[in-house]
Amino acid sequence: AQAWVLTQHFHGFPTDSDFELRVEQLPEPRDGEVLLEAVFLSVDPYMRPFSRVRMKEGEVMIGTQVAKVIQSNSPALPVGRHVVGRCGWRTHTVCDATDLIPIMEDWPEEVSLSLALGAVGMPGLTALYGLEEVLGLQAGETLLVNAAAGAVGSVVGQIAKIKGCRVVGSAGSDAKVAFLRELGFDRTLNYKTVASLDQALREAAPDGYDCYFENVGGPFSSVALQQMKDFGRIAVCGGISLYNDTTPQTGPYPHLTMIFKQLKMEGFMQSRWEHKHPESLKRLMAWVKEGKLQCREHITEGFANMPAAFIGMLQGENIGKAIIKV
Ligand code: NDP
Repeated sequence: AQAWVLTQHFHGFPTDSDFELRVEQLPEPRDGEVLLEAVFLSVDPYMRPFSRVRMKEGEVMIGTQVAKVIQSNSPALPVGRHVVGRCGWRTHTVCDATDLIPIMEDWPEEVSLSLALGAVGMPGLTALYGLEEVLGLQAGETLLVNAAAGAVGSVVGQIAKIKGCRVVGSAGSDAKVAFLRELGFDRTLNYKTVASLDQALREAAPDGYDCYFENVGGPFSSVALQQMKDFGRIAVCGGISLYNDTTPQTGPYPHLTMIFKQLKMEGFMQSRWEHKHPESLKRLMAWVKEGKLQCREHITEGFANMPAAFIGMLQGENIGKAIIKV
C-alpha cells in the first residue's frame, strides 16, 4: 500500500516538497472490516485550509476516494462493491465497513463512478444546498457564480438554469469561459483578462444580481457585492483566492454596501444537510441521466501524480472536477 504524507504544513502555495510518498504495511481486516483498493481519488480546495486545522505533520493527506472492496469481513460490503470513503491519499485502506458510503445500488453502468466525487458527490451537494437551502433561488432571478468552470461552480450554474434563472459565470481562462457557454450560462467572463471586473459584471447584468454564489473571496467579492440588487442574497461557499495567503485577510470589505443594499450573506458547509444526502444524490443523478447536468472532469492518471494534481487544481488547471485515476 502507498500513501502520500504531509511532511510539513503548507506555507503559502503548496510545493512538491510538502509531500512524501510512503509505503504502508496494512493489518489483516478484522470482523466488520474491509480492505479497499482506490479507483478514483479527489483533490479538493478544502484540503489546503483543513490540512492546518485537522492534520499534524507526518500524517497521511486527508481526502475522499471511490474504492473497490477487495477483501471483506463485513456482510454489508461484499468483495467487488464500490464505496466512497474518507481514506486519505492512500492506494489501499483497511477500515470499518460502517465508516463507508456504498455507491448507490442502481448507479448506471454508463455513468463513471468518479462522479461520486463530483457532480453526484460532495461538490454537487454543495451546489444544490447553496442554491436551495442558503439562497432560496427562485425562477427568473439572476445569479452570479465564480470559479464557475470548477466542480461546484459548473453544477451551480447548470442547476440554476434548470430552475429557470439567468446565470452569469466567471472563470480564469478563455477555454473555461467557452465551456460555460456550452453549459448554457447566459453571460460569461474571464476575470483574468477583463479590463474592469466592475464594468464586466455590470454589463452582464445591468439590473444587478439577486443571488451570488461565492467561491473565491477577496477583491472579486468586494466588486461583486457592489453589483447586488437591494435585498440580494449571498451564499459564501468558499474563498479559494485566500487559501494560500500567509497573512490573514482583514479587508477590503464593502461594509456600507451591505447596509445600504440590505444584503443577506450566509456562510455554509454542505455537511449541515447530511441527513438529506441520499435523497439529494438521487436528484443529482436523475439530472445526469436526463442530460441536464453535464459533468466534465479533469483526470490525472496515476497515484504518483496526486501532489501535482492538487497543486494544479489550486492553480486553476482543471476544467470541471479534478480527479486522480489510479
Ligand atoms: P474547483 O474545481 O472550482 O477548482 C478550483 C478553482 O478555483 C480553480 O480551477 C481556479 O479556477 C479557481 N481559483 C484558484 N485560485 C483562484 C484565485 N486566486 N481567484 C479566483 N479563482 C481561483 O474547486 P471546487 O469546485 O471543488 O471548489 C470551489 C469552491 O467551493 C472552493 O472555494 C471550495 O473551498 C468551495 N467548497 C465549499 C464547500 C462547502 O461545503 N462550503 C464544499 C466544496 C467546495 P479559475 O481558473 O477560474 O481561477
